[in-house]
Amino acid sequence: MNYQCCYCKEEFPATEAIDGYKEGYKIGFLCPKCGKNIQDTPMNEEWIFSSNSSKLFFAIFMGYFFLAWIFLEFSEPNTWVHYGVALGGLVPFLVYSHIKHPKDMYSPTIGTKPVK
Ligand SMILES: [Zn+2]
Repeated sequence: MNYQCCYCKEEFPATEAIDGYKEGYKIGFLCPKCGKNIQDTPMNEEWIFSSNSSKLFFAIFMGYFFLAWIFLEFSEPNTWVHYGVALGGLVPFLVYSHIKHPKDMYSPTIGTKPVK
């Protein structure tokens, strides 16, 4: 997982975030690029995608996930065929994201906000 600094817009791995607790920064962490005190956005709701096509792809992916869940929810009794259809539909998505958008799939970036 990566963070994008809200000050300098640089992305860095979460493991490189500097713990500034000893220097008196009680909340959040310090950006390793510019040294400003930042913190996670609540619920990590701000996902930053490497491109608009990647963002669109993952929106469709989540949409499919949601529809597959509805399908399983309302198709009782569920048999292995239902699960097979729902999970089988995920395979092309996984293959596509593995090839086209590996960064966003394996190492997503989330936004940060200033510490007040
Ligand atoms: Zn920064």
